[in-house]
Amino acid sequence: MKTKISKERIPRCVKCSSLIKPNIIFYGESLDGKILSAAFESAKQSDLCLVLGSSLAVYPAASIPETVLHHSGEIIIVNRNQTHLDKYALYKFDDPEEFCKELISK
Ligand SMILES: [Zn+2]
Repeated sequence: MKTKISKERIPRCVKCSSLIKPNIIFYGESLDGKILSAAFESAKQSDLCLVLGSSLAVYPAASIPETVLHHSGEIIIVNRNQTHLDKYALYKFDDPEEFCKELISK
């Protein structure tokens, strides 16, 4: 695998030739509907949502913390840039290191 990647070849499954990739969603790929529904169900019942390293500009994922807020939960945002939800956040950290120090101190 490492050899294939280092030669800039796309790794493919030897059995079915499908693309081998980590279990993440890349830009442009659609989210799994079942996983997304489960995320929204969890968001409705959450007391707190941590938003880590997101500009909250890409939907539908960006609407998860909005759902938490609409159902009386709190959000903490850790992101270097501003987001449209900063003003509703319990805490907003620009620096992830600052957030970690605060977390450890509690
Ligand atoms: Zn396969």
